[in-house]
Amino acid sequence: MQIARISLEAGPRYAIVDHETDEYVVLAGDPIFQALDTTGQRVPMAGTRVLSPIIPRSKVIGVGKNYMDHIEEMGGEVPTAPVLFFKPNTSVIGPNDPIVAPSWAKELSYEAELAVIIGRPCKDVPIERVDEVIYGYTAANDITARDIQRDEPQWARAKGFDTSCPLGPVIDLDFDPSDVAVRSTVNGELRQDGRTSQMIRPVKELVSYVSHAFSLLPGDVILTGTPAGVGIMSEGDTVTVEIEGLGELTNQLHSS
Ligand code: MG
Repeated sequence: MQIARISLEAGPRYAIVDHETDEYVVLAGDPIFQALDTTGQRVPMAGTRVLSPIIPRSKVIGVGKNYMDHIEEMGGEVPTAPVLFFKPNTSVIGPNDPIVAPSWAKELSYEAELAVIIGRPCKDVPIERVDEVIYGYTAANDITARDIQRDEPQWARAKGFDTSCPLGPVIDLDFDPSDVAVRSTVNGELRQDGRTSQMIRPVKELVSYVSHAFSLLPGDVILTGTPAGVGIMSEGDTVTVEIEGLGELTNQLHSS
C-alpha cells in the first residue's frame, strides 16, 4: 500500500494511492498515529498537488559514505562507523517544490537516496527487530552545498539549509529495500544509477545503529546514503530522484 499527503481545499490530507483508478482515497487522520480510516472522499490524481509525505516532528538523520563507488568518487575511505548528520525539519520540501540555493553556497549537488520512515518510539533496536519500527519508505534528495561541505569543518550548514531535503512522492508500507534501483537524472539525463544492494551497511543495520545513538520517534526519517554520480547543478536545472517502486521525486533549482 502507498500513502501520499495531498493538498485539498480543506488543507493537507493523507490519502491512500489507488493506482487502479488513478485516484487518492482520503484518510480521516494521520496514518502514522491512527488507523487507515477513510473519509469516503476520492480525488483524481491528475491536478492534485502532492506534498512531502511527512514533516518530521523531531528529526531527519543522514548517513554519509554508505556506497563504495560514491566514497571513491569523493576520494574518501570507508568509515569505521556510519557517518551521521542531521537535517532540520525546516529543510523538508515536497515533490515539485523549488530547491532554493542559499546565497552563500556556490556548488549545489543532488544525492538520490532511499529514506526510511520510523513508525513508533524506539531505542536500542536489535537488527532482527528493525522491521517492527519501520513505518515505510520514500525517496529523498540529500541536497548538499558541496563547496561548504568541503570548506567548513562541519556538515550542518552544507546539508541542513531550507529546502535541502526533498521527500516523496509516496510512503510505501510494504516495500522491500534490499535490492532496488536508486537513480537520479538532471534535465532528463541519467546521473546516478546504483542499487540498494550496494550499500556498505544495509537498512536494518543502519536503523539499529542510529537507534543506539538517539531515541527514534514516529515520523523520524533516516536517509541511507547515495551511490556514485553526484554532480553540481545550475540554476533552473530539474533534478529527479527515482527509487524503483517508489515513484519519482522532481524538483527545480532556483536562486535565492
Ligand atoms: Mg547523502
